[in-house]
Amino acid sequence: METAQITTFLKQAALDAGFELAGVAPVHDFAELAQFKDWIAAGYSGEMKYMQARDDSGRLKRASLRSAIPWARSVIVCAINYNTEPPYSTGEAGPGRGWVSRYAWGREDYHEAVMRRLRLVEAGLHAAAISSDRQVPSTGENKELRTLCYVDTGPIVERVYAKYAGVGWIGKNTCILNQKLGSWLFLGVIVTSLELDVSLPAPDRCGSCTRCIEACPTDALVAPYQLDANKCISYLTIEKRGSIPQDMREGVGRHVFGCDICQDVCPWNRKAPVTALPEFQAREGLVNPALDWLAEMTPEEFREKFRGSAVRRAKLSGLRRNAVVAMGNSRDRRFLPLLQRLSADSDPVVAEHAEWAIKSITTSP
Ligand code: SF4
Ligand code: SF4
Repeated sequence: METAQITTFLKQAALDAGFELAGVAPVHDFAELAQFKDWIAAGYSGEMKYMQARDDSGRLKRASLRSAIPWARSVIVCAINYNTEPPYSTGEAGPGRGWVSRYAWGREDYHEAVMRRLRLVEAGLHAAAISSDRQVPSTGENKELRTLCYVDTGPIVERVYAKYAGVGWIGKNTCILNQKLGSWLFLGVIVTSLELDVSLPAPDRCGSCTRCIEACPTDALVAPYQLDANKCISYLTIEKRGSIPQDMREGVGRHVFGCDICQDVCPWNRKAPVTALPEFQAREGLVNPALDWLAEMTPEEFREKFRGSAVRRAKLSGLRRNAVVAMGNSRDRRFLPLLQRLSADSDPVVAEHAEWAIKSITTSP
């Protein structure tokens, strides 16, 4: 098979595996990766150490795929839609209800759902390369076809490669947006030593829109295309361990795991199709979850309820802490007896946030 045929075959293999979109990006130190360095230098990645990982020479691993994986020649980027039926975070919810980000509703952790499909595409690539004389890249450095599959965990800024693979543009909310599918997309990448035919980059279609920037309750989008994770509810409720800074707690609102606001307000998501895939349908209780249920959750229930769920990333302590903050923000006095109990909780983080929540409710006019 010629390179062009392999590329066509690969895209079809991605569709056959269940992805909606697939494209190929060259390995290059794109301008956006220089901006990633600036982003790290500005401290905008907060305490996310994996983002700041450096190689032995002190270079940021994610800033240059060429340095991190010297044999890499092309990146196959695949995307799958996880949009489900409403509600959305911007809609009304009953009293005492929190919000879990849509991407974490699913019955299967998306890392596994995407990786399973990527492996099928990877197997197809190996089969296609074996049946061709193109398995040795033109540099001659590598003797065999090499591949690595990643879902979130690789030394690569996926959305930059997604842009250059034509999957979508990077919106002002920093998410990948596709003209037809919107931004409810999980990305998976296959880094390969094979030189494939590359796709055209997706053009930016945000235009003069600034809805996401205006809607962000914590002003985390400090400039178009620029997120300060320290202010982002998603970071604060999932990645941040220990205490949430006091001045950020009110802005967290009712969010207990992630935040979808800057995607929910995006006009490109208005007509985003919904998926029928069973693994992305919501687990019971996760859509507008009851705050008191989460705040009192036991380790056994957490293990049972969130087995194989992306929600585990927040850990039980973080999830309970977030529920307590959301209770404080509800200003609902019915939570006071529960919060009194939680202010003596054996988890000092939960106890301290419960004290803050009590104060928020009792001092509210
Ligand atoms: S996820 Fe929420 S907090 Fe973060 S930038 Fe978007 S709207 Fe703002
Ligand atoms: S809300 Fe507007 S500016 Fe923000 S990502 Fe969507 S189209 Fe772009």
